[in-house]
Formats: sequence, C-alpha cells, structure tokens
Amino acid sequence: MKGGYTVSGTEQKYEADVIVVGGGNAGFTAAHAAAKNGRRVLLLEKGTSDDAGGNSFYTAGATRITHHGLEDLKDFIEPDARHAMTTVPPYTSEDYAADLDRVTEGRNDKELTKVLLEEATETLRWLHSLGLKYRLMYERQSYQNPDGTYLFWGGLHVGNVDGGQGLMADHTRVAGELGVEIRYGVRGKELLTEDGKVIGVKAEVGGREINYSAESVVLTAGGFEADPEMRSHYLGQRWSHAKVRGTPYNTGDMLNAALAVGAERGGDWSSCHSVQWDAFTPHNESNRELTNRLTRQSYPLGILVNKNGNRFLDEGADFRNYTYAKYGKRILEQPDALAFQIFDAKTRPMLREEEYEMPDISEVTAGTVGELAEKLGVDPTQLQKTVSDFNSRINVEAEFDPNVKDGRRADVEPPKSNWAEAIDTAPFFAYPVTCGITFTFGGLKTDTHGRVLDQRGQHIKGLYAAGEMLGGLFANNYPGGSGLAAGCVFGRRAGQVA
Ligand SMILES: Cc1cc2nc3c(=O)[nH]c(=O)nc-3n(C[C@H](O)[C@H](O)[C@H](O)COP(=O)(O)OP(=O)(O)OC[C@H]3O[C@@H](n4cnc5c(N)ncnc54)[C@H](O)[C@@H]3O)c2cc1C
Repeated sequence: MKGGYTVSGTEQKYEADVIVVGGGNAGFTAAHAAAKNGRRVLLLEKGTSDDAGGNSFYTAGATRITHHGLEDLKDFIEPDARHAMTTVPPYTSEDYAADLDRVTEGRNDKELTKVLLEEATETLRWLHSLGLKYRLMYERQSYQNPDGTYLFWGGLHVGNVDGGQGLMADHTRVAGELGVEIRYGVRGKELLTEDGKVIGVKAEVGGREINYSAESVVLTAGGFEADPEMRSHYLGQRWSHAKVRGTPYNTGDMLNAALAVGAERGGDWSSCHSVQWDAFTPHNESNRELTNRLTRQSYPLGILVNKNGNRFLDEGADFRNYTYAKYGKRILEQPDALAFQIFDAKTRPMLREEEYEMPDISEVTAGTVGELAEKLGVDPTQLQKTVSDFNSRINVEAEFDPNVKDGRRADVEPPKSNWAEAIDTAPFFAYPVTCGITFTFGGLKTDTHGRVLDQRGQHIKGLYAAGEMLGGLFANNYPGGSGLAAGCVFGRRAGQVA
C-alpha cells in the first residue's frame, strides 16, 4: 500500500487519490492503470469477497481484439500443442469497425469505436505483462475439421485462462501486487461534490453511511440489468420477467448517482444485451456455479420454434457471435417468453459441450418429432409441418460447413440463411429457452478518456466512467467479446487520467 488512508472523527474518512466504484473487469483495469501511475487507489465493491467480480466473473472471458493471425498472438497467449494444427484468420481494424457498425446499425459512437479497435490488442498485452493469462478459445470459437486441424471463426478468438473466474482471480491478485486497497461490502450511493467537482462517494457499509473522499472517482459499477423496475422503465414492462444472467448487484446505483450530479446520458438506454437461456433449470439466475453454462448458443445448427410450433427468426443469419445478443429479446416477445431449440441425432454431437452437457439441463428427447411436440406441450401437427417444410426447402447443393457461412439455406418463412441441415434422424432433442438479460447498453456520456460529460458537454471534474457504465458503443446488438475488450481499453484510459 502506497501512503495509506486516515481515519478521522466519528465517521471514517478514507483519503485516496483515486476511488474506483465497482470491482469488475473495467474497475480492476482502471485501478491497475492508476496504481501504475503512482496513485493511491481505493476500490469499493458492493459484493462480499465471496460474491464479487461483477458480470465479469460470469463470463467465458472471450475478448474481441484485432490481430494478424496466430503468430501475432503467440507472445501473450498460453502455449498449446494444438497451435501447430490451427488456423486463426486475421481480424483487422476494418473487420472490427465493420462488425460494430453492422450489428449496431451504425449507432456506435465512432470516436469510441476507433479507440477500441486501435487499443484493444495492446491493452491485452499490457494486462498480460501485469499477470493476466490468455489463450485461444478452441471449445467455443472453432470446429475441428475431419483431418484434425482447427479453424477459428467469427472474429473472436482469444479468452482468459479459466474464463471469467480466472479473469477475476488474476485481476484481484494483480491489484494486490500493485497496492490497490479493496473494500468489499461497500455500496456506493451518492457522489460528493464541492464547487461542481466530484470529491468522493457516499456509501452504505453494513447499514452505516460512510463518506470516502478522493481527488478522482472512476465509476465502473455496471448497468441496471439486475433492477426489475429500471428494466421495466427503460426497456419496457416485459423486461421485468427476464432472467438475470450475471451479478445481482448491477442495479444502476451509480448511474443514478451520476445523473443526480448532472451527468449526461450516453448510448442507448432502451436496449440491452440478452440471450437464449435455460428456461426451467432451478437457479437459472445469477448462478455462480454454472455461470455462463446456462446459455444455449448452438442454435445456428438447428431450428428454434415457439410454443405454437412456429419458427420466428433466422437461426443462420450470421455467425452466432453477431446474432446471439439480440435473440434473447426475440424470445421475450414469444408466448410465455418461451422457445425450443430443436436438433436431431446428426447435429447433437456438435453442440457446445460446456453448455449442452450442463448438469440438470432442461432437455427433452423423443423418437419422433410428433412425440417431441407432445412432451413439449406444442401442437404435434404444427411442429411436424414446421419441420417437414424446413427439411424440404434446403439448398442441398451447398455443402454444410459450420466454420464458414456456407449458404446452405432453407427457403422457408422466415428463411434460415446458413447451416440448414434436415431434422430427420432420431433421436430428436429440444432445449427450452427463455430470455436471459446480460447487460444494459445505456450509460454515461464520456469523452474517449472516460471523462464524464455534463449536459453542456463539459467534463464534470473528478468524474470518470468505464465498462458497462460508459454508454455509446453498443445499441440493439453487439459483437461477442466486445464488452470485456471495451472494459479493458476504457478502464485503462480512465485509470490513466484519473
Ligand atoms: C453470463 C455472462 C457471460 C458473458 N460473457 C462475456 C464474454 O465472454 N465476453 C465479453 O466480452 N463479455 C461477456 N459478458 C459481458 C461482460 O460481462 C460485461 O461486458 C463486462 O464484464 C462488464 O464489465 P464491468 O466491469 O463494466 O461490469 P461488472 O463486471 O458487472 O462489474 C461491475 C461491478 O460493480 C459493482 N457494483 C454495482 N453497483 C455498485 C455500487 N453501488 N457500489 C459499489 N459497487 C457496485 C458490482 O458488484 C460489480 O462487481 C458476459 C456477461 C454475462 C452476464
């Protein structure tokens, strides 16, 4: 610990150079950057030491960065015997920019985007130099070819060793090494100001109010995805029924605190990241044992039907990484916010193991499509019709290949644009899914260094934001792996200037 904190009067008052509020990926990255600059850093976290780590803990650790292929990554990823048999297609700044632009329909802030794609890789190298560990994500982002080689797809290749749990264990260890003081069980409530400058945080600790003061405050306390009332208010009433995938602590506390001192909103407050999520398994919210395994992401290999037995979206519109974050919402719009992913014996072995081999998974199997429908409570005649129409309209000229957009299309309504395989081989499998909310896209308006701006576009002195709290990069949809990448880049930037 450099310096130390004083305790004064009847109320504890901790003096620090920089206070970081929220201990997820963005908060720890900001804390490391500030500490490396010689600042005394105090990190305040709402969770206890046993349930901290934010949404970042629940992730797979997948992080979207630019690179020129495997050779370019080898200096900071863990060695792996499979590298010799692996192709990782380059992912350029142009690719990253085009993906962000396409999936957000051009609503991504262009200045923030430029910084994200210019700095993501370099920031991961910097984090690696501090002690974070990265690897290629074979099990999630590649398929093995019949000749034993591996080909990566979808622009998302690198992840943390041991996923989100490894990420947060590494972050916590590194923060300790850099002398960051971490306080658990501290809920930030308000920002303290003096002459328009933010000078600290009023927090609740074990039922008591404590003021923590500092020269700068970096807000990294996540979005409002875990607060049903804020979800209803900003996203629509239906969203009160969504399942919370990650931490229960991201309830918009510090967003509200920042708005109360005049911060401007940034980004899209009416949309969020949401996915297909196990509908019936017990404890399907904020589950720290199963974390990301409750998600069901192999839908591009099958079809998705609602309770009426009808398809309602294009499962093969694009690689999973570019559609998954908007399809949770589509399920919320279906009767009872429920849908079923359907596969047959041919595709079942290709489904992501960590998700579809989950203990206590909601799974229904049957020897015929009609029997499957009966078990699901779906009209058998309608499901059989949906499946047979689908099977009969597949472009069999195109060869099925999950590593590329293969153009193997089913010309039904809605179409399935790629990876259409007939559902014709028993046994048949159904996975009931509902909408799992990941994080909200609305945040605070900042400049590219995370300086929080007021409604006149002026920096609110002493106030910075990063991670989910920084609004503007995403709207409606999102390319997989960009949340952690953005938290690293803008967390580091905010920590450097704070
Ligand atoms: C199941 C799941 C899987 C995901 N997988 C990926 C993935 O593989 N790759 C990817 O890029 N993204 C993924 N994401 C999204 C990713 O988690 C977020 O984009 C990223 O972790 C956000 O980091 P953050 O630091 O902003 O927020 P968080 O990690 O959520 O951290 C916010 C912290 O603030 C604390 N906090 C909240 N309110 C207060 C308060 N009032 N006072 C003090 N502390 C407070 C919380 O307890 C929490 O620790 C996933 C999310 C989930 C839920």
